[in-house]
Amino acid sequence: MKIICIGKNYADHAAEMKSSIPTEPLVFMKPPTALLVNNKPFYYPDFTEDLHYEGEIVLKINKNGRHIQPEFGRGYYDQIAFGFDMTARDLQWKCKEKGHPWEIAKGFDNSAPISNFINIGDRDVNDIKFTTVLNEEVVQNGDTSKLIFNFDTLICYVSKFFKLQQGDLIYTGTPAGVGPVKIGDTLKGYIEDKEMIKCEIR
Ligand code: MG
Repeated sequence: MKIICIGKNYADHAAEMKSSIPTEPLVFMKPPTALLVNNKPFYYPDFTEDLHYEGEIVLKINKNGRHIQPEFGRGYYDQIAFGFDMTARDLQWKCKEKGHPWEIAKGFDNSAPISNFINIGDRDVNDIKFTTVLNEEVVQNGDTSKLIFNFDTLICYVSKFFKLQQGDLIYTGTPAGVGPVKIGDTLKGYIEDKEMIKCEIR
């Protein structure tokens, strides 16, 4: 199982990172050991002093496929979850400055807290609202209609390089409003009005 993540997939987030808008999806991965499930607490790692949350919609791949055309992308997922792409922003900047890969900043143990999956059914996947709440304050308002590369485009792009396998996850990117957490904080993620995940920072 692999966890594929998309960076800078909302223009407002690219802007807050002082980045240009990508012309192709920006892809990185986290290992399966990054997953943190069942609302378990997140323990602040000692290698960072600037740990950020990034709230994202996560797709679960439901069958194997390679070189999938966008018009068939929708057939490869029927469940979504809310996930946090936890990021050691200080390490990420250091890696970026040197032109190095940023895996240590993004793929460390438990860096991918994730909710249970819900069925999409016949919901319009290009019109899903999601929200990150930090200590009861809304800090991110996401809307999949604002994706730069929508889910089916991502499936197409990623499957050119990596065979998608049943159970793989795709973190589809975060909207503006990312920020730091500290020990004692509580993060929550909502899809529409449904609380999907709660994650205490310890
Ligand atoms: Mg992210």
